[in-house]
Amino acid sequence: MKQAVIQKAADTPATGEQLAKINRFSRRELSAEEVYVFSLLLCDNEVDRDYERFPAASLEKLAALFVGKTGIFDHNPRGENQTARIFETAVETDQGRLTAAGEPYAALRAWAYMVRCDKNADLILEIDAGIKKEVSVGCAVERAECSICGADVRERPCAHEVGQEYGGALCWHELRNPTDAYEWSFVAVPAQKRAGVTKGAHTAGEDLVKSLEGGGGVTLGHAQALALAKQLRELGALAEAGRARLMEKRKEFVRLAAFALPALDAAAAESAAAGMDEGQLDAFCKGFAGKAPAFLQLGGKPEKPSDNGAFCI
Ligand SMILES: [Zn+2]
Repeated sequence: MKQAVIQKAADTPATGEQLAKINRFSRRELSAEEVYVFSLLLCDNEVDRDYERFPAASLEKLAALFVGKTGIFDHNPRGENQTARIFETAVETDQGRLTAAGEPYAALRAWAYMVRCDKNADLILEIDAGIKKEVSVGCAVERAECSICGADVRERPCAHEVGQEYGGALCWHELRNPTDAYEWSFVAVPAQKRAGVTKGAHTAGEDLVKSLEGGGGVTLGHAQALALAKQLRELGALAEAGRARLMEKRKEFVRLAAFALPALDAAAAESAAAGMDEGQLDAFCKGFAGKAPAFLQLGGKPEKPSDNGAFCI
C-alpha cells in the first residue's frame, strides 16, 4: 500500500467532459448536480519512505490501470454505497524539479466521483474540510530493481540494502512495469510502513491479506486467483489434520479426567475440553497422567471413547 493524498477538494460542478467520462461507469445517466468530483494524487516518482520509487514510465502504466477502480472508506469496509470511482487519470510533470533519481518530478493524479446522497453527505463534508486526506493505493509490479546494481530483488536478492549509500549513491528499489492496480481506500490512520506493492502471483496471499487489512476491496488477476486457490487448498488440508489431532487430544483429556477426578461429571469434562487449545490439553493430560491407571499411561485405550461415561460415578 502506498499513501496518496487528496490534494484539493474541488466542490465545483463536473464539467460536461467529466460528466461524459463519469457516465461511462454509471448504471444510469447522472447529472452534474448528482455527482461530487474531487482529485487526488495517487503516487509520484520520488523515492518514498519505504525507499521505493515508481519511474515515470510506471506512472504512465498505472494511469491506465487505475481508471475505473473504486475506492472504499475504512469505516465501512463492505463499501455499501460509500464508494468513489476514478474516472480519469493524468501524469503531471514538473520539468523544473528533479527527483533523487534525476528524473523530472512526475505525479499520477486521479479524478474521482461520488454520487451525492444522504449516505455520502458526511464524507463529502469531510473531504471538503480536508479531514479525509489519506488514501491507500495498492498495485502489483513485475519487477523491483535495486537502484545500485539493477538486480530484480524479488527474483534474486542482491547485497545492497535500501536506505544505505554505496559510493555516495542511495540505494532504493525501482518499481517497474505495473501489471495490476487494486482498489484504493480512504484511511483514517496512515497505512502500514511496509509497502504492499508486490510482484503478483508469488506473494498473492500476503498481498491480499495486506489489502484486506487495509480495509479496501480487492481485485484479483487470473494468476493471483490461481495462486490463492492453491494456497487455500493447502491450508484447508493442514487445518483438517490439525482438527483431527485436536479431537484426539480432547478425547484423551476426557478419558484421563475420568480417572484422575472420578467425581467430575463427564459432560463438564467434555465441555472444558472443547474450550481448550492443544497446549492446554497437553498440560492437563500430563497432570492427569500421574493419577491414571498404568494401562492408560502406557497408551492403552478403552474399547470405545463413548465408554468413558461408564467410568464416571
Ligand atoms: Zn543491488
